[in-house]
Amino acid sequence: MKAQQFVVIGLGRFGAGLALELMAMGYEVLGIDHNEERVEEMTDKLTHAVMADATDEGVMRSLGVRNLDCGIVAIGDNMERSILTAILLKELGVKMVVAKAISILHGRALEKLGVDRVIFPERDMGVRVAHQLVTPHLVDYIELSKEYKIVELTVPSCMDGKSLAEINPRAKYGCSIIALNRAGGVIVAPTAHDYLYAGDIMVVIGSNESIDRFEEDAMNSGETEA
Ligand code: ATP
Repeated sequence: MKAQQFVVIGLGRFGAGLALELMAMGYEVLGIDHNEERVEEMTDKLTHAVMADATDEGVMRSLGVRNLDCGIVAIGDNMERSILTAILLKELGVKMVVAKAISILHGRALEKLGVDRVIFPERDMGVRVAHQLVTPHLVDYIELSKEYKIVELTVPSCMDGKSLAEINPRAKYGCSIIALNRAGGVIVAPTAHDYLYAGDIMVVIGSNESIDRFEEDAMNSGETEA
């Protein structure tokens, strides 16, 4: 079942950013922080924002946290509080518990406690930025395995007005364009007769090697021949 109601514990930059994005997507968000200023800042922006110590079981029970679908522990710096809060959410029966970790050890501890998803925002952002720095057209990527990935690439001007048949990345490089995203909407599973326009976002799936060759060869040189 998809989560509908979230509790975000810790309204620092990470927690606040996450909570506001969930609100923007139309979900209900209870924000909890023991810092009064942070709570005040979010009062009008979240469904509820409450000043409380998230490690206090009585308070968390009275807030009805157990009835929410997903709890996000966005406390990083204080490992003890992060771990105590995660344990409490699990014990209260929150269906899905996600926690931010600031070190490998912290992450391992959270996993051992049964946290459903551990995230490393700083590390993951560092990895993401590294990829974007060496791949100029890269918008985003998902690592499917050590060998395969899905990437979103901006269509460069050298491909403007060309059909997929002309570019033909599957035959030339071994990777496939599975969707095109442009102002007019998304084309899922485009055919050989669809055209690319500079600034479109193309979603490409394939091995790391095939996508890297496609990116380096076809997208940077203006040449589409392998
Ligand atoms: P960020 O890196 O997201 O900006 P930060 O550096 O401000 O966070 P963290 O220690 O990661 O600080 O804490 C995030 C938030 O969690 C802070 O706003 C802090 O007040 C809150 N927080 C920490 N411990 C608790 C607790 N036991 N109960 C409620 N809120 C807490």
